[in-house]
Amino acid sequence: MIPKIKNYVNQIRILKSLKARIFLIILLAGIIPSAVMRYGVLENYVDRAVEVRERDVQNQIQILANHLITYNYLQDTSSEVVNAELEQISNLYDGRILIINQNFSVVKDTYGISEGKTIISEEVIKCFKGENSSNHDANNHYIEMTTPIVDATTTDAGNLKAGNTTDAETTDIEIIKEIKGVLLISVSTDGIVTNQEILSRKAAILEITIAIVLIGIAMALATVLIRPFNRVADAIHDVKEGFTDEIAAVPDYLETEHIIDAYSQVVSRMKILDDSRQEFVSNVSHELKTPITSMKVLADSLLMQKDAPLELYQEFMEDIANEIERENKIINDLLSLVKMDKTAADLNISNVNINELMELILKRLTPIANKQDVELIFESMRQVDAEVDEVKLTLALSNLVENAIKYNKENGWVRIMLDADHQFFTVEIADSGIGIPEESLDQIYERFYRVDKSHSRDIGGTGLGLAITRNAILMHRGSIKATSKEEEGTTFTVKIPLSYIA
Ligand code: ADP
Repeated sequence: MIPKIKNYVNQIRILKSLKARIFLIILLAGIIPSAVMRYGVLENYVDRAVEVRERDVQNQIQILANHLITYNYLQDTSSEVVNAELEQISNLYDGRILIINQNFSVVKDTYGISEGKTIISEEVIKCFKGENSSNHDANNHYIEMTTPIVDATTTDAGNLKAGNTTDAETTDIEIIKEIKGVLLISVSTDGIVTNQEILSRKAAILEITIAIVLIGIAMALATVLIRPFNRVADAIHDVKEGFTDEIAAVPDYLETEHIIDAYSQVVSRMKILDDSRQEFVSNVSHELKTPITSMKVLADSLLMQKDAPLELYQEFMEDIANEIERENKIINDLLSLVKMDKTAADLNISNVNINELMELILKRLTPIANKQDVELIFESMRQVDAEVDEVKLTLALSNLVENAIKYNKENGWVRIMLDADHQFFTVEIADSGIGIPEESLDQIYERFYRVDKSHSRDIGGTGLGLAITRNAILMHRGSIKATSKEEEGTTFTVKIPLSYIA
């Protein structure tokens, strides 16, 4: 039932508006109780008024019944006193009185229609047995009541005892009651119905007035209550349109405060991303421009010398070739980085023997190590097979070993240790190199970050190697950690799950 109502509500677009909902709730909360109250009070009014009328009439006809006996009216209807009383009561209640004797014959009808006729109705028969009756006919607006006309005579049994007169008198007097006739009265309830209608009309007017006032209050409240949300929307709009960088505070509600907080966090995150994108673009441009500027300077200086010797040409062309190679390396690194920035779905996972992969990397790097007089040591604790992207992991580990060789000292060493537990394999690359200052350890993974820019440049670094490495490892759901001591060496520890976690 409730989901059905929800569905229905959702289909009516206006009911999706919080303002419309607040308006409706206030309106219904005001109108429903007043409608219920009106219905309850009016219904109750009729019942109460009929009850009071019945009690009144019952008292009057009781007195009347006694007078009928006193004036022997059932035998002789000429008593002016009784006739005047009958007239008065029937006028007072806008009703009709019938007096019926023991033969069920009507001796008096205040309307003068039924006199002499016989009436044998259930109520009359019951009344002769001593039962009062009262029936309210709500449709025809009248109450019909019967009451027995009782003749009560007292007889004295005559058993008076000397010395205890009072007691004896009370106990020995007998009351004999005889029903001599029946009084039947019909009383109109038109007056009550008219009163009910007047009350109902007044209540309706009151209700309409309340409804109009409530509509006004509900509209005003809905507008006021919704205002903070409009302010939030305006503040967000201002940021979106670029009028301001920071979202204006809207402190009215806790809820709006939460929205603003959440939105501010999104905005500042976007700003950080935008700043880093801008920084990256300017770094890329700068890095790509440097070799070109060098080439231009070399070429210009050759062109300026009309008779430059062949050796100078050769020397400058060699430098130009080196710069081209450097430009090429930066572009290749950038392409690798872009590839690594993509989603993990681009991974080409297969089961790889890490020992063999490591040996291949070391074999490829041995010539560079030999050139720098650096010794490469590989220690494998066990055979390790893991689900990895062979190309990307090779690139990551090669970068680390290459750095360990590049940032080493003469006659230094690089020790690579491979180990695994039942969940992860670890590769530790330790070197005896120049080390990384403590304060730079957190930044070395940033794109284009170099501890010593000119030294890195001299040995062919681009500042992109560790960024590529870290991305590749994160794609494998692994981790990378560096510890270092300046002038003593650095140790990188890479930890990667044996089974790939999608
Ligand atoms: P680069 O191309 O300059 O080597 P990387 O991203 O590979 O760029 O490394 C960033 C910086 O971290 C390097 O410039 C260097 O200063 C520092 N670095 C990286 N590895 C080592 C290491 N094994 N020993 C000392 N310094 C290192």
